[in-house]
Amino acid sequence: IARTADELVGDLNKQQAEAVQYRGAALLIGAGAGSGKTRVLTRRIAWILSQFGAWPSQILAITFTNKAAAEMRERLTALIGPVAQRMWVSTFHSACVRILRRDGKALGLKSGFSIYDSADSERLVKIIATEFNVDIKRYTPRSILGRISDYKNQLIGWRTQLAAYAPDFKPGSRGYRISNFDNVEELYAIIYAEYEHRLAMANAVDFDDLIVRTVELLRDHPDVAEYYRHKFRYILVDEYQDTNHAQYVLIRELAGVDAGESPAPTAMAAGRQGPAWITVVGDSDQSIYAFRGADIRNIQDFEEDFPDAKTILLEQNYRSTQTILDAANAVISHNEGRKPKKLWTAVGKGEPIVGYAADNAQQEAVWVASEIARLHAEENIPYSDMAIMYRANAQSRSLEEALINAGLPYQLIGGTKFYERKEIKDALAYLQAILNPADDVNLRRILNVPKRGLGARAESIVLDYARERGTSFFDALMHMEQIEGMPTRTAKGLKAFRDLMASMSAFARANITKPSEIVAEVLSKSGLLEELQKSVDPQDQSRVENLSQLQSTAAEYEQNTPDATLGGFLETTALVADSDQLPDENEDSGKVTMMTLHTAKGLEYPVVFLTGLEQGTFPHSRSLEDTSELAEERRLAYVGITRAKRRLYVTRAAVRAQWGQANDMLPSQFLDEIPDELIDWKRRETGSERMRTGWGSESDEFGGWEDDDFSSGPTFGGSPYGSSYGSRSGSNSGRWGSAASRSGSSSYGSSSRYGA
Ligand code: ATP
Ligand code: MG
Repeated sequence: IARTADELVGDLNKQQAEAVQYRGAALLIGAGAGSGKTRVLTRRIAWILSQFGAWPSQILAITFTNKAAAEMRERLTALIGPVAQRMWVSTFHSACVRILRRDGKALGLKSGFSIYDSADSERLVKIIATEFNVDIKRYTPRSILGRISDYKNQLIGWRTQLAAYAPDFKPGSRGYRISNFDNVEELYAIIYAEYEHRLAMANAVDFDDLIVRTVELLRDHPDVAEYYRHKFRYILVDEYQDTNHAQYVLIRELAGVDAGESPAPTAMAAGRQGPAWITVVGDSDQSIYAFRGADIRNIQDFEEDFPDAKTILLEQNYRSTQTILDAANAVISHNEGRKPKKLWTAVGKGEPIVGYAADNAQQEAVWVASEIARLHAEENIPYSDMAIMYRANAQSRSLEEALINAGLPYQLIGGTKFYERKEIKDALAYLQAILNPADDVNLRRILNVPKRGLGARAESIVLDYARERGTSFFDALMHMEQIEGMPTRTAKGLKAFRDLMASMSAFARANITKPSEIVAEVLSKSGLLEELQKSVDPQDQSRVENLSQLQSTAAEYEQNTPDATLGGFLETTALVADSDQLPDENEDSGKVTMMTLHTAKGLEYPVVFLTGLEQGTFPHSRSLEDTSELAEERRLAYVGITRAKRRLYVTRAAVRAQWGQANDMLPSQFLDEIPDELIDWKRRETGSERMRTGWGSESDEFGGWEDDDFSSGPTFGGSPYGSSYGSRSGSNSGRWGSAASRSGSSSYGSSSRYGA
């Protein structure tokens, strides 16, 4: 641990060194990207330990992501040795879990309480809303949950809401129904209160509660608060610009800012009275989480909020070349109402930014991949030094494919690989089930997706029957009328599902139907899309975009394949997924990194590709008409540009597909905001070739759903099941449709190809 002062600050500039050594209750290190904020924070921790004589247990360091926490811990270990392992270096959420695990019993939480993720929370809201007779089509569980989450981030409790909007409601009342209300706040207040009641009954907390309940704990239980205020003498927070109100209050409570006087600057030894010393670092130009309740005022008002606060500004950038900084400064200067910053670097101008305008997204991806291969081959740049960034997860798909085709290793951060994403797998499962009804796994996957009341019980009824008869799940479903003692509601639900599959299958069988149209049909008829579109959760917005991508992928596949079939399309998706999962020799290194701009916060790479710089892609279409949202997008652009150390690439596509539709895309206004002389355009004009979808498939490949063949195993063969289940022996796939709609079915005898 014993580090000399010179070892800790000798290689820092004057402001950085001042910040590391500052003695005082509240310090804000405010500075632009790459100026060493995180580095200073880490050094300051080492300084506090070795020069102020603090114990590792007296330090609480908060980072924005687990990845950032791991990185900081690693750097600290290098600086101060293994004691770093015992320090609290974590995100807000994991710090709160630790506190609640230890002291949550004061709040009535029993040990081993569960933490609901958003899916669990949503399920709970849905159960309540349904019981209370809420029109959940109009007020989706997800949107109600979003509202509850907003309240929590603002520390607005359910009692407050209830008192204001529904004073007569008693949480836990049985058989309550929400009847006509004048103000939708009444609905939210009632569900919020009941939701909290049931969380408590379940001995559970949701994700937002981790912060909220910890604040409550500290506020209402002075003994507990005292324990932590005594324990944590130094609280340090990175990325402070993205804290929300609840997190801000949590810091104050933990530090005891409102509970005692400022300490004397010299009283730094353990056991000292008075508030903990707070160090926060951040950059208001990098605030990009407003949609999660981040409040930029926390950093703007720091000096007024904390007594005797000191601000240290860092101005020298150590990360990027002057060219990259000039671009970043030029873009962010278009935001109004910000304090201008002057960032400079001693590195020099460096290479120009490289621009590339592609005809379409595929060409953009292929070009990026080829440039990565070239940098690696000709300039010896390791793959792990390169990163590709994009605005929305959906954009990763064409990039991933291009990298795979070029044989380049990559890793995707902070997102599931495209074909592993749940919404994509759900959609593909429908397509598989249409093509091959005997595929039990896929069929069972979608039985209750989106939720249609066919839960585990319904599934097991059919499953038991199938097992008893030794047939597929599909066959059992086709013969469910034979199942004894099936609840009427379940029977109704299963029939509806069967009809749904039959109708989608009939659509798919029409001779002119293209795979992309089948995808479109499935997305809309299944309800997959509707469920996500109704949600206000930005995550779901990106899931919708992923589904749009899937449809575009099918259209692309048609374009490149003379006789496109649904089966052929599914094969291509399966192949991508497979090669994707090939184990790699070097697990963490030697790979190009791909991630969204939001995930890239705080990270840096020698080479950065910023892709999809188009109006409507980035800035995102939702922000085009809203000044404050556009300002947030611009901050995101600033974050992206400043991730680059040596080389920055900016690319765009003239045509990008959404919903299988080719859209002409204008260049991003952020491109215009970068001074022209900074960019070396490798290709500036585009052919802007529109993607066409004018080819059809004559082939008939559909096994099953619409066929009048279905498994005629020993039990189902012949007539016992009545005419509606007409059977044809020798076939093992079946059809959903009724006898009346079977015309022409013989031309679909492809069960040999796709049958089980
Ligand atoms: P961001 O705003 O993106 O989070 P930051 O302000 O936290 O950036 P750091 O990540 O701490 O910046 O530093 C950027 C880069 O500059 C890092 O590689 C860091 O090691 C390096 N750096 C910072 N200060 C110095 C210094 N005094 N001498 C040499 N390198 C430095
Ligand atoms: Mg940082």
